[in-house]
Amino acid sequence: SKTHFYRDTWVEVNVDHIASNVKAIIEHLPENVEMMAVVKANAYGHGAVDVAKTALQAGAKILAVAILDEALELRANNIRCPILVLGWTRPKDVQVAIDHDITLTYFQQSWIEEAATHITSGRLSLHLKVDTGMNRVGTKSFEEALQIYEYTSNKSNFNTVGIFTHFATADEDDLTYFNLQYESFTSLLHRFEKRGIIFKQIHTSNSAASIRFPEQTFSQVRVGIAMYGLAPAKEMKQRIPFPLKEAFSLHSTITHVKKIKAGEAVSYGADYIAENDEWIGTVPVGYADGWIRRLGGKSEVLVQGKRVPIVGRVCMDQFMVKLTDEVNIGEKVTLIGEQGNEKITIDEVAERLETINYEVPLMISNRVPRLYT
Ligand code: PLP
Repeated sequence: SKTHFYRDTWVEVNVDHIASNVKAIIEHLPENVEMMAVVKANAYGHGAVDVAKTALQAGAKILAVAILDEALELRANNIRCPILVLGWTRPKDVQVAIDHDITLTYFQQSWIEEAATHITSGRLSLHLKVDTGMNRVGTKSFEEALQIYEYTSNKSNFNTVGIFTHFATADEDDLTYFNLQYESFTSLLHRFEKRGIIFKQIHTSNSAASIRFPEQTFSQVRVGIAMYGLAPAKEMKQRIPFPLKEAFSLHSTITHVKKIKAGEAVSYGADYIAENDEWIGTVPVGYADGWIRRLGGKSEVLVQGKRVPIVGRVCMDQFMVKLTDEVNIGEKVTLIGEQGNEKITIDEVAERLETINYEVPLMISNRVPRLYT
């Protein structure tokens, strides 16, 4: 990742916090359970390579990504641990996965048949994905799972090393659906076992399930959001028995300050009108940085340890704030994170946008450099 840049707007990723979260999660799990660090989508916006290295150093054993390109980025940065692609990969690209020692996910007969025709050398490492209620990807019945598993076990080019499923409601108060999925998965495993088929790697649990039901994990867990210091859902906040430390913060600096008169307007549409004479500061962050227009007029940022409101519409590259006083050019602005005793959390921004915390670090675009501290 680029280390030098010419703008005073940056994301700070606290890798010590990520390491501490990883260690806390591992300690919470039974001793033989391995942690798979989910670093898809550029590690939820935190930066895949740096997060991956941090998580591995802190004790994670495997990395999980959504697509092959993400796995290749990790390999290109000298990351040598096992990597699993959770999503669907084009069958014509399987040789690339073999060449880079990347494990793929399969759940379709047509997929493995076509994949087989694209292997020229080596052995494709695979995990079988079973659908137990998410209805996203995965086999729907034991018979279907068995059939495609057997297709791979009869071919020397394929090596199925794992099996997994994904929970739809592990973060919710009501556990009925979770229990149905869990039971459906364990009964499927038993049916495989009865035929002498034992999988080396078995995993079902995302952050919520890993935290709530550490004894109901199998050989591995797939932890994303908690590693970044965030609760998987509001309902989960009280259920996390160890501290999670938020790793992502977003900062900028004031580039312009002036006093405007009562009645003057600010920004496009001239729809913010000053009630009094007001100090207005300009912050060089806009919707091109992922600080979306919906945050205009709704959101606050921190300046000199105090909350100040965004006034007027957020522009592509800048927005304005109403300051309590004159400040210097270069004064630090914190959009997400701490200043003094004040804190704007990712959850607060998510709530303002009526979305989930997962989306917030991800929406901050790549134009904003990530610094690792
Ligand atoms: N496993 C799969 C298949 C996923 O799609 C995800 C993320 O959406 C995760 C694990 C990690 O989930 P979480 O970030 O809630 O821990």
